[in-house]
Amino acid sequence: MSVTDVTDHAVLRLSEVWKVYPGEPPVESVRGVSLTVRPGEMLALLGPSGSGKSTLLHLMAALDRPTSGSVRLAGHDVGAYRDRRLAGLRAYHVGVVFQRFFLLEGLTALENVATGLLYRGVSRAERRRLAAGALTGVGLAHRAGHRASKLSGGERQRVAIARALVGRPAVVLADEPTGNLDSASGAGIIALLRELNGHGATLVVVTHDTKVADACPRRVELRDGVVVGDSGEVGA
Ligand code: ADP
Ligand code: MG
Repeated sequence: MSVTDVTDHAVLRLSEVWKVYPGEPPVESVRGVSLTVRPGEMLALLGPSGSGKSTLLHLMAALDRPTSGSVRLAGHDVGAYRDRRLAGLRAYHVGVVFQRFFLLEGLTALENVATGLLYRGVSRAERRRLAAGALTGVGLAHRAGHRASKLSGGERQRVAIARALVGRPAVVLADEPTGNLDSASGAGIIALLRELNGHGATLVVVTHDTKVADACPRRVELRDGVVVGDSGEVGA
C-alpha cells in the first residue's frame, strides 16, 4: 500500500503493530496488534494496568510511531511520516482526551476549546465561532466565559472533549476520561460520549472502568500487549 491510500475508508487500521521500548531488557509494550476502526464506531479498549492501552492509544493518535507493523490513520501510514507532517496529520485527523484534562488554567472554556484549531489555519474569529458551537454540543455554553480553573472536574472534561471535537477529527481517542472524576460526573461524561457517538463521532475509549466499557458497543481487550478479545465491529 502507498503512504496515503484514499480508498481506505477505515479511520484506523493497525496491522501487526509492535512497540518495543529499548532497555535492559527491552519492554515489549504492544506485541503484534491488528485492529480496524471504522467511521461511527465507539470502541472500549480494556485491560489491566500495564497491558499496553496507553501505548496503543499514543500510536493510534500518531503521537508515536510503531517499532514495526503499520498504523494507518484516515488512510495515512503514520510510520512513513516525519515529525512535521505527523503533527499536521494529528491536527486534522485526531482529537485526544486525557484523564488529567490538560486545560490551560488561565484561559476561558471558550479559549481552551479554540486552541483545538490552532494548527488548522483558521482565523481567530472562526476559531471562536466553532469553539462556541462545540461547547454548546457538550452542554457548556453557559460556562464559555469562565476560566478553566473555576470549573468542576466534570466541566473540565467536557471542555477537553469539546477541544478534541472542535476540528471534527476522524477519531477522538480518550485515555481513562472518567479516571479523575467522581461517579456522578463520570456517568455524565459517559452519557455525553454516547450522545456524541450517536451524532456520528468515532470514539476509542481506553478504560478499566466497567461502566464505561459497558456503554461501548464494541470492546477490545488487551493483555500483555496482545489483543485477547474483540466483541467485533458492530454491524460488520
Ligand atoms: P496501560 O496504559 O495499559 O497501563 P502502558 O501502555 O502505559 O499500559 O504500558 C505498557 C507497558 O509498557 C508497561 O510495562 C510500561 O511500563 C511500559 N512502558 C510504557 N511507556 C514506556 C516508556 N516510555 N519506556 C519504557 N517502557 C514503557
Ligand atoms: Mg494507561
